[in-house]
Amino acid sequence: MSVQLYNTMSRSIETFVPAKEDEVGLYTCGPTVYNYAHIGNLRTFLFEDTLKRVLLQSGFTVNHVMNITDVGHLTGDGDDGEDKLQRMAKEQQQSVWDIADFYTTAFFADFDALNMIRPTIVCKATDHIEQMIDLIKRLEERGHTYTSGGNVYFSIDSIDDYGKLARLDLEGMQNASREDVEVDDHKRNPKDFVLWFTRSKHGDQEMMWPSPWGRGFPGWHIECSAMSMHYLGESFDIHCGGIDAIPVHHTNEIAQSEAATGKEWVKYWLHGEFLLDDTGKMSKSKGEFLTLALLKKHGFEPLDYRYLVLGAHYRSQLRFSFQSLKMAQSARRRIGEAVRSMVNGGAQRTTISSDAALAYRDDFLTHIQHDLNTPQALAVLWSVVKDGTLGADERYTLVLYFDQALGLRLDAIEADEEIPADIMALFDERNRAKAAKDWEKSDALRSELAQKGYVVKDGQSGSSIEKKM
Ligand SMILES: [Zn+2]
Repeated sequence: MSVQLYNTMSRSIETFVPAKEDEVGLYTCGPTVYNYAHIGNLRTFLFEDTLKRVLLQSGFTVNHVMNITDVGHLTGDGDDGEDKLQRMAKEQQQSVWDIADFYTTAFFADFDALNMIRPTIVCKATDHIEQMIDLIKRLEERGHTYTSGGNVYFSIDSIDDYGKLARLDLEGMQNASREDVEVDDHKRNPKDFVLWFTRSKHGDQEMMWPSPWGRGFPGWHIECSAMSMHYLGESFDIHCGGIDAIPVHHTNEIAQSEAATGKEWVKYWLHGEFLLDDTGKMSKSKGEFLTLALLKKHGFEPLDYRYLVLGAHYRSQLRFSFQSLKMAQSARRRIGEAVRSMVNGGAQRTTISSDAALAYRDDFLTHIQHDLNTPQALAVLWSVVKDGTLGADERYTLVLYFDQALGLRLDAIEADEEIPADIMALFDERNRAKAAKDWEKSDALRSELAQKGYVVKDGQSGSSIEKKM
């Protein structure tokens, strides 16, 4: 079976064929480390993690490179704002390097909590200034740049296919009113973009490096081109990001990369849709934003959010609400309980061989390999969990196999431990209090058990006790 992916460049689903037979070169735009990631950002990383897991499950080796943007990402897309890290450093009265370190660590804590597989290479922009300068020099030699007002610009009129990914209507744009955008008078074409800044309109820039064009710092777009080519070669297989990267960031990455090499840069472009909140697209500029830490405060586990995200296709918008997260939480817990009872019953990994089990596996792969259809893949997981006619070992093995793509950590679920004697003594005491209708004592003992990590459940046939999941 083969993997089918929707390529934004062709606007169609294509069969994925990597340039090297079994090894995939994958570049995903990483975080700009000036603040915590909000859960809308994390949705994009989760889609990329699912892509990677599906490629691995399908037998490919994946060479995954992700950057850390720690310089040059301005608050405005048109080179018109302030460096995001620099602004935060001023606000928090810290060094910009400390800001970068702090939020990089926070980002990977979220990354791990969501059970995402770490990239093969994580590269910081500030560690690759040399590669960026080299790339700008190449562009200069080929006549694609000009210097104006101290900055080095890429001239989009020096190439004939600018905007091909976004299918930009350049003439229509030039005629449209641009009153809403701060115009940089130094640009020959308003769509030209900065490769190297030597001046900042917003005062001192802490991060500066010497260059042939003067002391300065790189533009945001050049870093992804320079680092991806450094680690993956001048042409590679897949580049991903959120759909908001299409019209400017990825458009400019393509323009400068292909102008520098004269070759097609990336074969498959994949983009994840937005997470919406009540007011529309989730963003950090709208006051308090939703982070994984905030979800935890509301009593959710990071994997509840992963389950919620898997329930929608990555190319569909997803509207976030605590109600839908609650539903995801209860669904994930039910799957966890089903897996725990399989483990309690002694289920073992085996080789899938029955026709029914093989049919389930094919069904799952058909969905997940068809442009990562996670909602349908989850439906197959549920069918298997509920199907009592399958053998216990095959059922357990299928669930773990599906989880290679879904990443819900079902393989970490262990059998119930025997409940320690002191806990059982408290539980017995609580049962006696309950039988004597001493509700106060019975409730107090229930709370004490909860504090020790055990849940008492009262059913029609009496009470039971189990360890919290
Ligand atoms: Zn990028």
